[in-house]
Amino acid sequence: MGRSVLVTGGNRGIGLAIARAFQAAGDEVAVTHRGSGAPDGLRGVQCDVTDAEQVSAAFDEVEAAQGRVEVLVSNAGITDDGLLLRMGEEQFGRVLDANLAGSYRVAKRAASSMLRLKRGRMVFVSSVVGLSGGAGQANYAASKAGLVGLARSIARELGSRSITANVVAPGFVTTDMTDALSEERKKEIFAQVPLARFAEPEEVASTVAWLASDAAAYVTGAVIPVDGGLGMGH
Ligand code: NDP
Repeated sequence: MGRSVLVTGGNRGIGLAIARAFQAAGDEVAVTHRGSGAPDGLRGVQCDVTDAEQVSAAFDEVEAAQGRVEVLVSNAGITDDGLLLRMGEEQFGRVLDANLAGSYRVAKRAASSMLRLKRGRMVFVSSVVGLSGGAGQANYAASKAGLVGLARSIARELGSRSITANVVAPGFVTTDMTDALSEERKKEIFAQVPLARFAEPEEVASTVAWLASDAAAYVTGAVIPVDGGLGMGH
């Protein structure tokens, strides 16, 4: 039997590609959703990561079905862009709560299972803008930068128990999130990306799968860009 894997926001987009990659490798995979249900063949569990009680209940349900979570991928995330002078407290806090505090909530719950298992892998899906910043994205960039500090603290706290914590920082990836961009904006972005295209979700998934594999057993606290070269130098 494969490992017990949980991917937050694994019902669509990058998270779904990550879930499929683990499934293809023979792992037992559960994905969270907020009411959409899970795609065919995946175990779904309803969970809003802004609610600690829902996080706890979701882990209980997943672990009853497939055993203690050994691999956590904290992928769920939102954007709510706006220029700083117009960005309200609620708009800032909502994004931090989902992207950063949500990751804290799932990591904390996962850590107790991994400590019992005496092994585990946590992978946090950040973004190139967490390192470079992004105009109109103070909330999103701050939340994604925060994941680096979160992961590296976990790497230090839990490394001696064979638990690793790493960050993947994608650039632009073809999903619902980037479908919202205008054609003009997409062309501007392509001009800045050395590989001159968006990534496919599977190209992020393969890096996440590697970080959770035996091949990456000695990698922890790393921030791995999957950005076509967009963020080079960070
Ligand atoms: P999508 O918008 O396609 O999907 C977002 C996912 O997150 C959905 O599954 C959504 O669930 C889930 N989600 C959002 N808020 C919550 C919440 N409060 N609780 C639980 N689940 C939640 O995004 P992508 O697939 O594009 O992005 C996935 C991750 O990758 C995000 O963290 C994003 O910031 C990051 N990223 C994306 C990039 C891109 O270009 N697409 C680039 C860099 C990073 P539901 O279906 O219920 O809404």
